[in-house]
Amino acid sequence: MEENKIFQRLKELIQNSSSKYYHYPVAAILECSDGKLYPGVNIETSSPQAGICAERCAIFSAIADGYQKKDFKRIFLLNQTENIITPCFICRQALSDYCDLDFEIISYNTLGESKTYYLKDLCQDAFGEDSLK
Ligand SMILES: [Zn+2]
Repeated sequence: MEENKIFQRLKELIQNSSSKYYHYPVAAILECSDGKLYPGVNIETSSPQAGICAERCAIFSAIADGYQKKDFKRIFLLNQTENIITPCFICRQALSDYCDLDFEIISYNTLGESKTYYLKDLCQDAFGEDSLK
């Protein structure tokens, strides 16, 4: 999908965020290697730990639909500030468990500015499957 269309889709999607407690809406669009797109939004609950971030919402939805590790190409993010954000460390753990190290995270701010991150840079020496052996 074209980058301009992605940003427009993220702006529509972020309206679905359920962020009434902390007022920090985030939208994500996960792109699989075959081109399929999965939307995600953060969903807050009254007990903070029971909610979920947009990134994990998207990737867990794709996994529930049959996609597996190695099937994910990149994820686009939008938050509603002028800051360009990176995934929280809980999401970094999930992404490092289910995505390749060259997985891209393209994060937008409200101005449409973006920055591209690589999972390998955000998750150096991550805890993972090998750590359990
Ligand atoms: Zn997160």
